[in-house]
Amino acid sequence: MLLDRRTFTAGSAALLSGCATVGTRTHLRTCTPLHPVDVDPGLVIRTVAGLRPYRRSGFVVRAEALGDKRLVHNYGHGGGGITLSWGSSKLATELGLQGHSGPIAVLGAGVMGLSTARLVQEAGFPVTIYAAALPPDTTSNIAGGQFHPFAVFRERFATPEFKAQFTRALDYSWRRFQIMVGDDYGIRWLPTYVETDTPEAKLLDTFPPFDRLLSTAEHPFPVASVLRYDTMYVETGRYLRQMIRDVQIAGGKIEVRRFAAPADLAALPEALIFNCTGLGSRELFGDQELQPVRGQLAILEPQPEVRYAYTGSSGYMFPRADGILLGGTFEFDTWDATPQPADIARILADHKRFFSSFRCTA
Ligand SMILES: Cc1cc2nc3c(=O)[nH]c(=O)nc-3n(C[C@H](O)[C@H](O)[C@H](O)COP(=O)(O)OP(=O)(O)OC[C@H]3O[C@@H](n4cnc5c(N)ncnc54)[C@H](O)[C@@H]3O)c2cc1C
Repeated sequence: MLLDRRTFTAGSAALLSGCATVGTRTHLRTCTPLHPVDVDPGLVIRTVAGLRPYRRSGFVVRAEALGDKRLVHNYGHGGGGITLSWGSSKLATELGLQGHSGPIAVLGAGVMGLSTARLVQEAGFPVTIYAAALPPDTTSNIAGGQFHPFAVFRERFATPEFKAQFTRALDYSWRRFQIMVGDDYGIRWLPTYVETDTPEAKLLDTFPPFDRLLSTAEHPFPVASVLRYDTMYVETGRYLRQMIRDVQIAGGKIEVRRFAAPADLAALPEALIFNCTGLGSRELFGDQELQPVRGQLAILEPQPEVRYAYTGSSGYMFPRADGILLGGTFEFDTWDATPQPADIARILADHKRFFSSFRCTA
């Protein structure tokens, strides 16, 4: 089930009562290999909020005619758009490029538009990206960047055809991100710990990363059950900057332009158009199933000694070179993309409590 990070709904996962917590971080550093995060309002360097482009039946990859043009949709990836970007764009380009010749338009310069543009270029076509906003002003820049398809669809609304599309997209993305690991794209592997209230269930049935249930002695976290797996983390600001460079180095053009209605697209010189406008597709193409799911983050000064990620009932913590990300909220149908001080205070307080309750494991 891919709507919820399992642990997010595990609000009831009890803190282990009576487990031996240790009072000082200095002492903790010597008795567990996992450094607790230093959580303090004074360490917050910024707060952000973004709107996930969510569809309960899953993301759209579909072709249609638009006058004498061909339009291929590639939008609606919820909380898993970074993860799915290469794979979903691969499916979209397979659909659109067959039998095509001539230049191509891509609408949108978030992660989906940029990956689509790169795949179009790799297939040998000239491309122009048209977008109302460019990085750093896209939802993609807000993303935590964990490779995990979180909150992409709701099981009971997804068709078997969608699930096949989802698995194919995930598979291609998984392999594509691996060959981009390193400082130039800001991608790295990290051990990832996940609080669980259903330890018997696998994180993802058909797909790596494979997880393992840890014994209490194997982790310092003050929770009952913890899974561990390895996955990739994308420093989204750096990644998107590099993707823009890649598009431009390969001769791609980028034009800032907002389209108000499908009729506006008729004036474009390109006969093939990829729609990667994310949440913008609701207004532009009238997709009423698409809805915003707000997520808020508090970002702390970088703490390079923290080299693992954690997700649980306290929220999630992703350590990146540009800061420690503390999340997160999941607020349906909320259009206001500004951080709410009360929510941020709660995120900080929950994480402070969590990281000051580590147990010794050595
Ligand atoms: C707090 C938070 C945390 C997240 N964490 C993760 C994570 O850890 N891992 C993960 O995989 N995903 C994560 N996501 C989800 C991810 O950010 C999105 O799924 C993804 O960014 C969607 O990308 P996109 O390119 O479709 O949309 P966007 O990044 O929103 O880009 C859309 C583009 O289309 C343009 N556009 C829109 N309307 C129009 C128009 N009418 N005319 C012209 N241009 C238009 C915009 O200007 C923009 O350039 C997170 C999201 C949030 C909010």
